[in-house]
Amino acid sequence: SLRIACRMNITELQQRSPPSLISLAGGAPNPSTFPFLSANIQLKNGQTVGFDETLMKRALQYSASNGIPELLTWMKNLQKNLHNPPTATYSPEKGQMEMCVTTGSQEGLCKVFEMLVNPGDNVLLDAPTYSGTLAALQPLGCNLINVSSDQHGMIPSALKEVLSRWAPSEVHEPGSSAPKVLYTIPNGGNPTGASMTAQRKKEIYELARQYDMLIIEDDPYYFLQFDKPWAPTFLSMDVDGRVIRTDSFSKILSSGLRIGFVTGPKPLVDRVVLHIQASTMHTSSFTQRSFFFFFNWSVFSCVCVDVAEWHAPSAGMFLWIKLKGIADTQQLIMEKALEKEVLLVPGGVFMINSSEPCAYVRAAFSLSTPEQMDEAFRRLSSLIKDAV
Ligand code: PLP
Repeated sequence: SLRIACRMNITELQQRSPPSLISLAGGAPNPSTFPFLSANIQLKNGQTVGFDETLMKRALQYSASNGIPELLTWMKNLQKNLHNPPTATYSPEKGQMEMCVTTGSQEGLCKVFEMLVNPGDNVLLDAPTYSGTLAALQPLGCNLINVSSDQHGMIPSALKEVLSRWAPSEVHEPGSSAPKVLYTIPNGGNPTGASMTAQRKKEIYELARQYDMLIIEDDPYYFLQFDKPWAPTFLSMDVDGRVIRTDSFSKILSSGLRIGFVTGPKPLVDRVVLHIQASTMHTSSFTQRSFFFFFNWSVFSCVCVDVAEWHAPSAGMFLWIKLKGIADTQQLIMEKALEKEVLLVPGGVFMINSSEPCAYVRAAFSLSTPEQMDEAFRRLSSLIKDAV
């Protein structure tokens, strides 16, 4: 098995090595021989997500099985911002939050089931449920136990009733038939459209604790919730490291690009990654890079990439931007930008010595619409070009 791990990890090793490394080890093809040179993806709002030759070569090449590092980092930050999982700060053995990219959430679900479910196991779910879940579970030879549900999803008292066939004290006994896995779609269930309340999730999580079960939270409709406030997710309540969450971008970005994510305790996500290594190897590098560009401030990058430098913020309301070739932004912002009807804060305001030149500006993105942001950055970009 050591040999297999070594063989599989060459791609990852290469990616982590400095550019000076001369590798004769990998079995990767030479992307210079591929027919594709570059790509520009036009967005409906008129902007472009561009792959130059260098990026295109990377997008056409094999990549790490858990996902391209930039995308994983971005997605982990998003997941922490959205759900604040208690496990984010745990040690790996305690179930530290880990993530991997999957080819749609279906791949994640299927691999999670294959990892956890043995023939004859009792698996809990609230039927009717997503046919893709049934298609993944049924060949595993498990016994599906239905927990009653209503318009708010799985009913905690019904779960308690089902679980009363076993005593919590006996679930770890050898040969115990107590269920180890509970699957549910917490928002906009397929086919029922039901969404679970925070109270139900709390009660179900408590029952999962009593019976030491894993919860599989299949949440592809999370971003399509109509009513605010959104109930907290199982992931956000996961003090024990017993939740495996699958996210999908099929419903808001593209179903055909095939991108999803598994989030869960590190020891389990690592096993899913091993299965990916041995099967699909990884989700399409081109898909992952397109997705990353699109979300990672593609709007701002398209307009300002030549004239500014910045780090995409992972939280908050502000973007701190260095204007290239502008030693001090005070005059540009307070005079010329105002004339062009765009307003930002000159960076000097935030410095201890505000009289020293400062090449930065602060943009707040909390109140403007995406269209207003686009227009503001377009104006800023042309101002910088005129000034240098
Ligand atoms: N889970 C549920 C509940 C779904 O309804 C679907 C798709 O319809 C999926 C998972 C699979 O989605 P993906 O396209 O991310 O594989």
